[in-house]
Amino acid sequence: MSGRARRADSAFSQLSVPVSGMPVPPFLPRTEAVREGVWSIAVPFPDNPLGYTLVYLIESDRGPVLVDAGWDDEDSWDALVAGFKTAGTDVSKCYGVLVTHVHPDHHGLSGRVRDASDAWVAMHERDAVTVGRLSRAMEHDDARNHRPAQTLPDFTDEMIAVLLDAGASEDELAAAPDPAVRRQARRFRPLAEPDRHLDDGARADVPGWDIDAIWTPGHTPGHLCFHVPQHRVLLSGDHVLASITPHISISRSDRAGDPLGDFLDSLRKVALLEADEVLPAHRHRFGDLAMRVEEITRHHHDHLAEIETILGAGPTSLWQVAARLRWNRPWEQFPLSLRRSAVNETAAHLRYLARRDRAVRLKGVRPFTFVSPTLHR
Ligand SMILES: [Zn+2]
Ligand SMILES: [Zn+2]
Repeated sequence: MSGRARRADSAFSQLSVPVSGMPVPPFLPRTEAVREGVWSIAVPFPDNPLGYTLVYLIESDRGPVLVDAGWDDEDSWDALVAGFKTAGTDVSKCYGVLVTHVHPDHHGLSGRVRDASDAWVAMHERDAVTVGRLSRAMEHDDARNHRPAQTLPDFTDEMIAVLLDAGASEDELAAAPDPAVRRQARRFRPLAEPDRHLDDGARADVPGWDIDAIWTPGHTPGHLCFHVPQHRVLLSGDHVLASITPHISISRSDRAGDPLGDFLDSLRKVALLEADEVLPAHRHRFGDLAMRVEEITRHHHDHLAEIETILGAGPTSLWQVAARLRWNRPWEQFPLSLRRSAVNETAAHLRYLARRDRAVRLKGVRPFTFVSPTLHR
């Protein structure tokens, strides 16, 4: 794997948000054993440039345990069921589902797996509390025949709400073009409420294995990675990916939070783990965890420094900061959904700077406007 694992995917390396029009991976990786008793299954993630979610099947003494289940869609379900077969088992034998985080490309099929098998579903409590709200947002989105935000780790309406809260004006929202693609309505199945919560450092219930849950907040408030010391591998979910960086935004369930600060802390946390290989939920496996952590950390610090430079030139609104940042393509080419995503990510960076007295938000000014502390007297 190492040659492929080291591949630098430069076209995406500066991406913090998925970009529609990004080439869809040309193939679905086949189900394969990546370690003794650990299988990788690619579950299609339709209408999304990422193409698929990699879920992992671990052969336990009580039956297979999944790490993530994938997007809830008929083709995705078929691929998951076929993956169980290739691994020499059956979805009806599934003993449990460990969910890295609540996003529907990971947690979408957990409920269907549980229905087919009686498996338990476990996730961190900080994500569990958001299941109902996310589910309702998706249902609402479906009902209006809108594209659910399957390309994005948040939901369209929710994003608009967050943006308005964050100070984007109605004019700014209206001025941006509509997303070109709208997803067809589908029959909606609510996201599953988990049966169990997993805390930081908890031993996962995978009989015959020592697998530790590592709480890695940032991408979501309750994101978990799973460390398998006996194989020296880290199942990293969306926390650490080879060629892209996960979206970081202020969560509605933690409006006062500092998700970027949490994320950078969580990166430091996993860098200390003993792992020769990282098994992520998107793209491909890779070897050098510490180096990848350093790259992603540097990416965010570069972004932070760029924002400080922008604010050094004078008061700037959140939306304007996002528009002036260097992204992987010109801002004018971003569809609205991506602009929102980019603005959300910028808001998380501004929160980080404001918390550390590196940016000041002008009180009472709408849309939310920030300035360098050196200009603020
Ligand atoms: Zn995610
Ligand atoms: Zn994902």
